[in-house]
Amino acid sequence: MSIRENVAAIRARVDAAAIESGRKPEDILLVAATKMNDADRVKEAVAAGVDACGENRVQELLEKHPKGAYEGKPVHFIGHLQTNKVKQIVGLVDLIQSVDSEALLQKIDAQAEKHGIVQDILIEVNIGDEEAKSGVSPEALPALLEKASAYSHLRVRGLMAIPPISREPGGNNVYFCAMYKLFIDIGAKKYDNVSMDFLSMGMSDDFEDAIRCGANMVRVGSSIFGARHYA
Ligand SMILES: *Cc1c(COP(=O)(O)O)cnc(C)c1O
Repeated sequence: MSIRENVAAIRARVDAAAIESGRKPEDILLVAATKMNDADRVKEAVAAGVDACGENRVQELLEKHPKGAYEGKPVHFIGHLQTNKVKQIVGLVDLIQSVDSEALLQKIDAQAEKHGIVQDILIEVNIGDEEAKSGVSPEALPALLEKASAYSHLRVRGLMAIPPISREPGGNNVYFCAMYKLFIDIGAKKYDNVSMDFLSMGMSDDFEDAIRCGANMVRVGSSIFGARHYA
């Protein structure tokens, strides 16, 4: 199957899951997780109509961006972000999905101020409380949002999560539902500078479950580009 055919097939499944859960297909954003795919393949996905591209590594983003890989669509940063790499991506990406510490907030805000922009971000939540994973714990999320609301050059647009690897179909629904609850609760609290516009969760194996639980942004890689071959 070509990238174009894969995107069409995924889009059809996204649309069906949206309708099933009482929402409009156009309310769900399909982000292509483009890691390990070169600029030409990314361009194919953009031409096939994904809503945005998501990169994991700063190095890959910096290689593909000058080649026009993302032209015509927003590009998001979705991988683990080190504070010392912040300055390389602020202003270059439309959304940083993986912010999970005050140190990152501070660096992003400072860099955005230099550029004279307001950087959109999502807060990544470690919803499975996994030790080795990035993301703020659900318990620490309110305090981090309080901090975020004090910065004027960034804006929190929602939440992102990468739940534990699931062994069975539907295995992540409990995490997806917990994320949706956080998303709704925070939305009702009205912090300054914080709006719950995007709930980013769901990947190739479980994006339909995520949508049914309330995701409005899914990040799909291997089902669009094929399996990744790690060296
Ligand atoms: C790779 C990746 C995805 C997509 O994973 P697939 O299983 O290939 O769809 C989504 N989100 C993040 C943060 C990723 O790194």
